[in-house]
Amino acid sequence: MTINDNVLVIQKRMKEAQTQSARHSQPNVTLICVSKYHSVDEAKEVYDSGVRHFAENRPEGLIEKQQYLPDDIVWHYIGSLQTRKVKQVINRIDYLHSLDRLKLAKEIQKRAIHPINCFIQVNVSGELSKHGLHPDDVKNFIQEINALDKINVVGLMTMAPKMANENEIRQTFVELRQLSETLTAEMCQLNRPLQLSMGMSNDYDIAIEEGANFVRIGQAFFKG
Ligand SMILES: *Cc1c(COP(=O)(O)O)cnc(C)c1O
Repeated sequence: MTINDNVLVIQKRMKEAQTQSARHSQPNVTLICVSKYHSVDEAKEVYDSGVRHFAENRPEGLIEKQQYLPDDIVWHYIGSLQTRKVKQVINRIDYLHSLDRLKLAKEIQKRAIHPINCFIQVNVSGELSKHGLHPDDVKNFIQEINALDKINVVGLMTMAPKMANENEIRQTFVELRQLSETLTAEMCQLNRPLQLSMGMSNDYDIAIEEGANFVRIGQAFFKG
């Protein structure tokens, strides 16, 4: 399989999953290529297959990819972001998928030139190894950061537990969707419905069925 074949397979599975979506109106789903473990040349092949959203998880990787790849790419930052690294990345990205604490939000407020689209990372499964807010704390957090004009809360992000079966994975995604629906209904300061960033190589079809708006896919692009 070439990278182009992989892109076609992913797009086909995404379409199929969208027809099964639990949401009444089938939302558009944005495909993000997570290029973190792959070279500029490999990422360029994905780009040449038509993908325009890319994600990195380290400042060095982001800076290197941006240097060599075309400038019409929408850049996403995934994974935990240390407060002291905010200034290196924040004005290079369009979306942050890992906002999970007030200290990070305040540092973004201090460093960002333009508002940054942020997903709040939620630890739905409760795994100790995972970053993210407890679902019960998200509402409070959104209120706490409401006054920060460089933070544009666009949605919620989660990861399914490792080693989970299909039901457990689906349950995680259902809970994130329900949380987004509840908060969207309750919080008038949210002027648009909270979007969902969920689904990776092994579970993106389940995530889309449960309402994902952004899927973050790495390995599935690059397998041989
Ligand atoms: C690495 C990573 C992905 C992509 O994972 P794959 O299994 O390679 O698809 C998605 N989201 C986050 C937060 C990641 O760290």
